[in-house]
Amino acid sequence: MSELVIRDLHVSVEGNEILKGVNLTLPKGEIHAVMGPNGTGKSTLAYTLMGNPAYEVMSGEALFKGENILDLSPDARSRLGIFLAFQYPVAIPGVTLANFLRSALNARRRGDNSEDKGIPIVEFRRLLKAKMDLLKMDHSFAGRYLNDGFSGGEKKRAEILQMATLEPEIAILDETDSGLDIDALRIVSEGVNALRGPQMGALVITHYQRILNYVKPDVVHVMLDGRIVESGGPELALYLEEHGYEAVREKHA
Ligand code: ADP
Ligand code: MG
Repeated sequence: MSELVIRDLHVSVEGNEILKGVNLTLPKGEIHAVMGPNGTGKSTLAYTLMGNPAYEVMSGEALFKGENILDLSPDARSRLGIFLAFQYPVAIPGVTLANFLRSALNARRRGDNSEDKGIPIVEFRRLLKAKMDLLKMDHSFAGRYLNDGFSGGEKKRAEILQMATLEPEIAILDETDSGLDIDALRIVSEGVNALRGPQMGALVITHYQRILNYVKPDVVHVMLDGRIVESGGPELALYLEEHGYEAVREKHA
């Protein structure tokens, strides 16, 4: 089964336990939102799934296709079909977004088959154009140097284009709370909407209830103090919008 199953995950940062037993199942083809107030461990979950070494897994697992991805390198996670946002390096003047995406795709292909000669340039151009059309992006964007002077929104756009090119089965996106303006949120949501379908699901981690204005999740999870305390349909996010996280906290106190 190509679903991501997070089981009793405990994670510490600098000796403090932040995730205190997270359980969550994300089936392929579904969009799940993880919402919660600041400081509750949402980004810790995202960084742990990405394999950031500052986040120490104390116990628990994240299973995908029979493997515990927490034991794998970020590369191997990607080859299994998981896209983790923020994989692209910081600004690389001299490397266009198109070249970067072609390298990323070829690395993926070589990971699957060491004999792979890489995607032919003509085929890659056709693929990239099709993805940019799907995402309603101007073709000139791919000729820009990667992240060199990109605005926040353009960085998000580059990330979504990378996601579209790599065609993951499951995408994990953390809308880190600081500095994400509504435009960037809209770009990410529209990208997820354009790519969602039976072949791709996503975990959208956010504290913005507003995300519901842009992307309709199949399931909403509420995280409080390092645990998922409640899961429900989109109506749960509407409830949060009306009553706030405090109402959920009181229920579970
Ligand atoms: P959220 O994304 O829900 O706002 P975070 O996962 O960013 O929450 O943070 C949860 C807790 O973990 C906070 O108390 C934060 O201070 C702590 N934390 C997160 N990352 C680090 C880090 N790299 N070093 C020290 N503390 C951290
Ligand atoms: Mg965060």
